[in-house]
Amino acid sequence: MERCGLASGSQSRAVDERVTRWRDALHYRVARSDNRARTSVADRANAPSFVYLDSVSAVEKLTTAIAGAREIALDTEGASFHRFVDRIYLLQLSTRDTHAVIDPLPIGRPAGLGALLEDPSVEVVFHDADYDLRLLEQDYGWKIRHIFDTRIAAQLLGYTAFGLAALLERFFSVKLDKKHQRADWSMRPLTADMLDYAAQDTRYLLELKDRMSAELERMGRMAWAREEFALLEGTRWADEEPGMGFLKLKGARDLNRRELAVLRELVPWRDGVARQLDRATFRVIGNEQLLEIARTHPSTRDALAKLKGMPRGILDQRGGELLDAVTRGLAVPESELPRFPKAARWDRDADFDARVSALKTARDHAAKRLTLDAGVLCSRDRMEAVARRNPSSVEELLEVTELRRWQANELAEAFVAALEPHRQKTALKAAVTENSPYSD
Ligand SMILES: [Zn+2]
Repeated sequence: MERCGLASGSQSRAVDERVTRWRDALHYRVARSDNRARTSVADRANAPSFVYLDSVSAVEKLTTAIAGAREIALDTEGASFHRFVDRIYLLQLSTRDTHAVIDPLPIGRPAGLGALLEDPSVEVVFHDADYDLRLLEQDYGWKIRHIFDTRIAAQLLGYTAFGLAALLERFFSVKLDKKHQRADWSMRPLTADMLDYAAQDTRYLLELKDRMSAELERMGRMAWAREEFALLEGTRWADEEPGMGFLKLKGARDLNRRELAVLRELVPWRDGVARQLDRATFRVIGNEQLLEIARTHPSTRDALAKLKGMPRGILDQRGGELLDAVTRGLAVPESELPRFPKAARWDRDADFDARVSALKTARDHAAKRLTLDAGVLCSRDRMEAVARRNPSSVEELLEVTELRRWQANELAEAFVAALEPHRQKTALKAAVTENSPYSD
């Protein structure tokens, strides 16, 4: 999903004609893919580029042709920047010798391909799998089980630039082009140039995996990667509690309860319009404008019109609905005004922050030694989980489930040592309290 573009000027020339030719030549290409001769990246750059598939039978043929592949690079394109309901608008796939771009719109769910990709003996290689996995689960119900993610691999190797563009430059000196980065993949027809661009997203991924696997092995970090990859399995969108979306709007926290009540009316109104128009919510009306309406609760069309950034079309066609939503919010009785749910509380004793800061020092030290980004080695959330548990031994630290095993292995001793002075203080305090006549 991560947008990157590699289509060079020379590649994009005459692509329209080439796409047509490839579609006609699918039989030839599929037959050729049985020949497992490995070509180098350099050879590949000059080779015919990819097959474009937009029919059930073509995808079935491809699936049969690549059925023996044990490694498949995969990418999807959605349109979250443009549409309200995101879905898969393009699927790109590469084996060692076949590259394909699939238009799923005329096809629907490519079931045979799904069976291949869900086969645990097939390693599916992504760059930044998270969003792709969510879309694949949402649209097709696919649960991919054997994953390699080149973005995660790059982070575990300590690279500071881990976008696909940076990795391809680093390993293959392939130059990038971001011209279709914000492309609307839901539009049809897609231009040949866009398809060419999309095909680049999986073209080099298997070679990239080879190179990065070798690095991970060399640095003794393959087990780290395997643990992270296994945790990607089952990634999906959680069902949101209905009607609670307004609390997630950035800036909602700064509103008072009456303003929140207005926002609680405005957000589902906007979702409804966005769904109806199948347009991304910010293209209906911006968050800033919604917050401003919640704060100022305008009661007339003129007051709405004076609002900075108020979209003309919405004002003209939906102004009445907007004012109605404001009126409903203002009519909510005091006793039913919404509030933010209380953040999860834990026993946050006085020493908690000091323990977190001691852990942070230990982590930063370890991150330097491992040449890893400190946040990759251990995020603040996880250090807080350790501080809450306040383990006095490595065994106790291993019980902190928020920590990955590889993180625990790297950090256990340093963390336990960092907490040692705080534990003595806590023990001392407890002893004093026990002996005090005033306890209870
Ligand atoms: Zn992509």
